[in-house]
Amino acid sequence: MALKSLKISGFKSFADPVTIEFDQKITGIVGPNGSGKSNLTEALRWVMGEQSPKSLRGGKMEDIIFAGSEKRAPLDRAEVILKFDNHNRQLNIETDEVEIRRRLFRGGESECLLNNKKVRLKDIVDLFLDSGLGRDSFSIISQGNVERIFNSKPSDRRFIIEEPAGVSGFKLKKHQAQQQLQQTDNNLQRINDIVQELE
Ligand code: ATP
Repeated sequence: MALKSLKISGFKSFADPVTIEFDQKITGIVGPNGSGKSNLTEALRWVMGEQSPKSLRGGKMEDIIFAGSEKRAPLDRAEVILKFDNHNRQLNIETDEVEIRRRLFRGGESECLLNNKKVRLKDIVDLFLDSGLGRDSFSIISQGNVERIFNSKPSDRRFIIEEPAGVSGFKLKKHQAQQQLQQTDNNLQRINDIVQELE
């Protein structure tokens, strides 16, 4: 699976639409300080489901929308579109190309599309689980992350291996199943209380 292109508009410093084609084996992005290199990797993480404004260097999610400059008024919408080559079906979707799209409007409404169909953000996150990609994977290593990984405890570092090995997805599903069991237990207890009251 390879990235094919990234299109961003209204995202952080990228007011106008910009498309980057990843048509070579290696794509390097260079530019002076503050020109938006990190914003590009953040756009990648965001479209793949990032939900923490803090990890996108913001206070709230709306901070990712172009906030205006000396010459331009702020915009009302941020959009990122990412296309993958999926010939090898690494993503569990039966199309050779997969396109994910995420939009956020000032005011808070947001939208996610997978191959042009509206989906939940969770569907996008699930799509990348165990693929070695995704917002939490180590295919994107942000500034400061290398130091954090080296300084972390071995038990925390295990996560790096678990993600591409496919363990993280099972852990998440186990956690969700446990939560459902707990919820069912609570419901049963409540029913028992009501039955006892009625007897
Ligand atoms: P460095 O090489 O110093 O790490 P960089 O090329 O990675 O820099 P970024 O950190 O990606 O640069 O970009 C920072 C720029 O993005 C700043 O000029 C900042 O004002 C701008 N920026 C961030 N959020 C927004 C926003 N919502 N609207 C407009 N501009 C923004």
